[in-house]
Amino acid sequence: METEIRQFIEEKVMKDPIHDWIYVKDPVLWGLINTRAFQRLRRIRQLGTSSYVFHGSEHSRFTHSLGTYETMRKVLSHFLRNHGWPNDERIHKLALCAALLHDIGHGPFSHSFEGAFQTHHENWTRRIILEDEEINGILRQVDDHFPQDVASVIGKEDKFPLLVRLISSQLDVDRMDYLLRDALHTGVIYGKYELERLIRVMRPYGDDVVVKSSGVHTVEQYVLARYFMYTQVYLHHKTIGSDLLLRKVLLRAQTLYRQGELDFYPVELVPFFDRSEAEVQVGEYLRLDESIMIYAFHQWRNEEDRILADLASRFLDRRLYGSVVSDPLSNETLESLRQLLLARGLDPEYYLVYQEIATAGFLYKEGIRVIDEQEHLREIHEISNLIRSIVPEIKYRLYYPKDILQEKELVSILGNLGG
Ligand code: ZN
Repeated sequence: METEIRQFIEEKVMKDPIHDWIYVKDPVLWGLINTRAFQRLRRIRQLGTSSYVFHGSEHSRFTHSLGTYETMRKVLSHFLRNHGWPNDERIHKLALCAALLHDIGHGPFSHSFEGAFQTHHENWTRRIILEDEEINGILRQVDDHFPQDVASVIGKEDKFPLLVRLISSQLDVDRMDYLLRDALHTGVIYGKYELERLIRVMRPYGDDVVVKSSGVHTVEQYVLARYFMYTQVYLHHKTIGSDLLLRKVLLRAQTLYRQGELDFYPVELVPFFDRSEAEVQVGEYLRLDESIMIYAFHQWRNEEDRILADLASRFLDRRLYGSVVSDPLSNETLESLRQLLLARGLDPEYYLVYQEIATAGFLYKEGIRVIDEQEHLREIHEISNLIRSIVPEIKYRLYYPKDILQEKELVSILGNLGG
């Protein structure tokens, strides 16, 4: 390391739209914020292509990562004052570092990029913590096992179960921050809930974080905020459509590259075109951000390949695919749809997507326990009718280029469309 981390620094404060101020006193945390890998998160948006629907949502992973840290700091401070935990400085530091770094492995257009190149941000988070010289060097100044412990908390291993609960569970500091932040930047009001009150009703209990019975309504508000954010914002059909279009751009570029037919490509993308995730180096991964991707799309507009030029233009100019809700489709129906596209001179691989949109993995099922005055524990859905009423659903959507195909042409094959 070029710079030795000092024991104490003057407290740093950063203005934040959710928490008002974010406070950093620990030089390890301050050192991490100032690494190249962490600063790169400024150039990766929190909600990928969501801004094509909610134009305010241009906020970055950087601001959410700081917010997750600050939420953890507040929770720990409440726990320590009221429940005497964590009275260990290393645990405290471990929790804060894990919160700050939990999204460090996200790539440009997070989920679209992962889908196109079969990468997983969880793997990269772990590798960056263990392999990036700068980040690893700073964490190692705490002690030699510290980077491994930070990675284990983020990776949900069982060495520090209470910290894992705080970072990644039904009631974790990650979603406590992103719900409020995403609601603010999208401009929707249904993602809001009372953060300070929620923290006040949380308490550590053995290896778990539980909620006081006086806090059931506060938790209901938080669970509903999540329900609305997923159904209205994160899984918005146009956001999913723009994500699918982006994947198609990357898929086409990769196919052309492998055939030796791609005229332009940023060198930063070559490792992903060429190799599997495990063969890409951490340094190569960290060079990539959304500015490089957008630059590539601008160049691809002018590619000789008509499909890539068209897809890149559609993405940059927000000419998104249209979509219709459908019933589950049989292979025969899908084949007829493909033939319809082929007859129009369109490659169905790039111009037709049949997508299942399921809310099951995103809505509350179980995992928040309520503690009463006699220290009896009950799962919150046993107590709350409201939470019990949240049931998952699955929709099927067919995406197609609406400027070329008309909905009535699809109807002739699909029969009557739902929704
Ligand atoms: Zn996060």
